[in-house]
Amino acid sequence: MMALRLIFLGPPGVGKGTQAVRLAALHRIPHVSTGDILRTEVAAGSDLGKKARQFMDQGGLVPDDLVVAIVARRLALPDCEAGYLLDGFPRTLGQAKALEATLAQRKENISRVLYFSAPDDVLIRRLSGRRACPKCHANYHVETLPPKQAGTCDRCGSALIQRKDDLPGTVRQRLDVYKKQTEELVRHYAAEKLLSEIDSTGTVDLVGAAVERALAP
Ligand code: AMP
Repeated sequence: MMALRLIFLGPPGVGKGTQAVRLAALHRIPHVSTGDILRTEVAAGSDLGKKARQFMDQGGLVPDDLVVAIVARRLALPDCEAGYLLDGFPRTLGQAKALEATLAQRKENISRVLYFSAPDDVLIRRLSGRRACPKCHANYHVETLPPKQAGTCDRCGSALIQRKDDLPGTVRQRLDVYKKQTEELVRHYAAEKLLSEIDSTGTVDLVGAAVERALAP
């Protein structure tokens, strides 16, 4: 079977993390989320975490060289040989070019880029209700995807948290950063004929069905 190498693009709050977890499990490929990797480093207090933290807390982007190095290391692990799903990377054209150089060295190419989109008011509602498990990274929403027991992770029983960068002041900043830096990636991958846009306004199941249609041979 051909290796499936996917990129998930889209603004914060669009639900790409939720779809990424589903699809990665379905195709048995690793879900590589730079946001999750960075939050783990911050929690561990590593050198990398210390460098990344200031940018993350303010809703800005971590510098390209740090993120590119993280991804190159992750993709070199054996579980990525059969494919992978990149979630939240690349975020800038510079990162996309660095990824292309890494892939060229490995004689690999990207199978498809899925671009998840939804209007700003939907994104803001989703971000402010979002809760996350700090341990296993499962995502919830107080209205649309509540855990069985309020405040507790269904999967591992840890206490759920609201991400610092999901607080109202930071949400607006993250959407602005996204618009400035990430939208040029949409044009880049459209020009490469790799892009499929997924309307992400609907329920998790509806969006999931649209993802499967976009990837059908
Ligand atoms: P996310 O969970 O994808 O929303 O990422 C949370 C935060 O981690 C972002 O607001 C950035 O500060 C940082 N981050 C994640 N991925 C990247 C990336 N590819 N480039 C730069 N910063 C990133």
